[in-house]
Amino acid sequence: MISRVALVTGASRGIGRAIAEQLAADGHRVAVNYIRSEDEAEAVAEKIRAGGGEAKSVGADVGSDEAVAGLFQEVESSLGPVEILVNSAGITRDGLLLRMKVTDWDDVLATNLRSVFLCTKVALRPMVKARWGRVISVTSVAGISGNAGQANYSAAKAGIIGFTKAVAKEVGSRGITVNAVAPGFIETDMTAELDDATRAEVKRRVSVGRFGTPQEIAFAVGYLAGEQAGYVNGQVVVVDGGLAI
Ligand code: NAP
Repeated sequence: MISRVALVTGASRGIGRAIAEQLAADGHRVAVNYIRSEDEAEAVAEKIRAGGGEAKSVGADVGSDEAVAGLFQEVESSLGPVEILVNSAGITRDGLLLRMKVTDWDDVLATNLRSVFLCTKVALRPMVKARWGRVISVTSVAGISGNAGQANYSAAKAGIIGFTKAVAKEVGSRGITVNAVAPGFIETDMTAELDDATRAEVKRRVSVGRFGTPQEIAFAVGYLAGEQAGYVNGQVVVVDGGLAI
């Protein structure tokens, strides 16, 4: 097993947290990014260190180019150049399009899509030099099939898919793979606000009959991050329990 440096954006909670823990369990040194939850992110890093791994929590708004530059500098000086980038930070600002504010559009696009452009661009330079790298972005089934009340989020997540496929073609020959994982409905803070009727409807539409766990997404990301996944490029791995759209 080769130990790599991994940066997971939005790793203080939910899916990002499970991914950070999975990559650490796979032997990688992990940077745990957050925007507000400093204590939670530090707890994730501390848990990894307590288990014998190496980890550091780093705060940064991944939608801001200045903050992203600082984030990569901090990770490089403490752990080394990023070899595995996982773009997991994301937010929702739901509402029907006719009532959607411009700020709801801009905020969702900045955190979910602009961040993927900014972080991937900075990460790629040393990866190209090293002729090895993994970029994995967390998109959503909403980006494939669309979701009423989530025009902003669906557009951002669809954007990640186009970005992933384009960049995979640009850097595949350099030993770098660029893929996406599309979760369905996963038990995190993001889905905690769904009402009982919506939860029942989701379970009815999912063939395995339940919400997924963050760990079930982390396993897919761990696979794509591994040495053995070097022949998987420009793909979207859907992990949705068999969701009927
Ligand atoms: P979550 O529990 O709400 O956690 C969101 C994470 O993103 C937190 O760590 C948060 O940090 C971080 N974050 C938010 N804005 C950020 C910013 N500007 N800069 C840096 N970090 C930021 O969400 P989740 O459910 O785990 O979702 C993780 C990813 O999976 C997202 O991309 C989401 O769109 C996607 N996804 C989720 C589901 C689902 O059912 N949950 C389904 C499909 C796709 P703080 O703690 O500091 O706020």
